[in-house]
Amino acid sequence: MKKNIITIDGWSSCGKSTLAKQLAKELGYVYIDSGAMYRAITLYFLRNAVDITDKKQVIESLENISMEFAFNEKSQQSEILLNGENVEYLIRDLIVAEKVSDVATIKEVREFAVAQQQKMGKKKGIVMDGRDIGTTVFPKAELKFFMTADIAVRVERRFKEMYEKNPNVSIEEVKNNLEMRDYIDSNREISPLRKAADAIVLDNTNLSMEQQLKFALVTVEKLGK
Ligand code: C5P
Repeated sequence: MKKNIITIDGWSSCGKSTLAKQLAKELGYVYIDSGAMYRAITLYFLRNAVDITDKKQVIESLENISMEFAFNEKSQQSEILLNGENVEYLIRDLIVAEKVSDVATIKEVREFAVAQQQKMGKKKGIVMDGRDIGTTVFPKAELKFFMTADIAVRVERRFKEMYEKNPNVSIEEVKNNLEMRDYIDSNREISPLRKAADAIVLDNTNLSMEQQLKFALVTVEKLGK
């Protein structure tokens, strides 16, 4: 069967990566988490106290960043390496989540990440999730999803996920972070979060993971016909 590019964009914590992983597995495609790249860049900036208002510092820092994804047999998922170090878990911390959307507004950061994402899609057979994948990274992708869910449901899901790792996190903090990121992501100047005109909307407020995967697979099947 012909290999395609499938993009999944949408609001924070509405299950994009869950669907993207499942779809990639079902189809034998590669899954790329573009958000992990912005998070890894943010982690590097935090660790090295990079002043993100200083263009020169930002550009010089980007020159020292290399990112790749490696499949971890133990967790059975592809994880991000920042300069060779597996930072998949560190980048999920609230400290990173609080800064990532500001970092992702920077033109040089976006150009750096987008160029690598486009390279990863050269051979097709890829599912990539993020905010601008269907609009900027792969505007000609064969299949685009735009995911959404009620804010209360999204907060609940993300809170559960974060609470398991850090019981000190509060639901308020999680809610504030989601709302702040959604605001910055959809109002920034470069590649704001938008539904691509040809994207299929998937509202999973009342859908189980199985139901949303089924919906996506049926849509993929239609592509082949
Ligand atoms: O997908 P995730 O929530 O991990 O993404 C973290 C942040 O990275 C988003 O809130 C957004 O600011 C940024 N991002 C982006 N463009 C993408 C993916 C993520 O700006 N394609």
